[in-house]
Amino acid sequence: MNMNTKNKEKAVVVFSGGQDSTTCLLWALKRYKEVIALSFDYGQRHKKELECAKDITEELGVEWHVLDMSLLNQLAPNSLTRTDIEVDKEAPNDGVPNSVVDGRNMLFLTFAAVFAKQRGITDIITGVSQSDFSGYPDCRDVFIKSLNATLNLAMDYTFCVETPLMWIDKADTWKLSDDLGGLELVREKTLTCYNGIKGEGCGTCPSCKLRKQGYEEFLKRYK
Ligand code: ZN
Repeated sequence: MNMNTKNKEKAVVVFSGGQDSTTCLLWALKRYKEVIALSFDYGQRHKKELECAKDITEELGVEWHVLDMSLLNQLAPNSLTRTDIEVDKEAPNDGVPNSVVDGRNMLFLTFAAVFAKQRGITDIITGVSQSDFSGYPDCRDVFIKSLNATLNLAMDYTFCVETPLMWIDKADTWKLSDDLGGLELVREKTLTCYNGIKGEGCGTCPSCKLRKQGYEEFLKRYK
């Protein structure tokens, strides 16, 4: 695969400023002549997520938009959207942390599709993965394919929802960012920590543990 052939025109990347979506942004920049990053403001526990997203898009010279999704606060008040509720220290047995907002990813992708169509863009990139056991049903491949078909029907348009991380684990996500020349950027500038600490994070929340395990596995496998 030649990673430097920009043979596609335009894409919208659903972008949170985290490891996965930043890797997708780097992936898109190798393939598309024009890339737009789209973030969602839903009253995140950490406004820092949006700050990271802004910094990363500035560094990469990517057009960036933020859509107001504060209605998520009303729909699913929980630990991600309300600052007065504690995040689970450990993921519960079913693997779904209490930070989940039902259907959140579906909503983000749907709004991204409306945005993309207005710009004449068909390709939407999202960093969802079926391999990381996050347990979110709207991150699974079958759902993405189903939503892609639904969006096409809803807007009479041919969308292409791309999921570069769908079948790879966290270690291979690190490998991909390394292959794309963005390992340091992802290590230092992204935010995945539930406690809002950029880069390495707090080291103890479930998200930091997953990120660290993946990085260590990446070093073991490839370095
Ligand atoms: Zn953390």
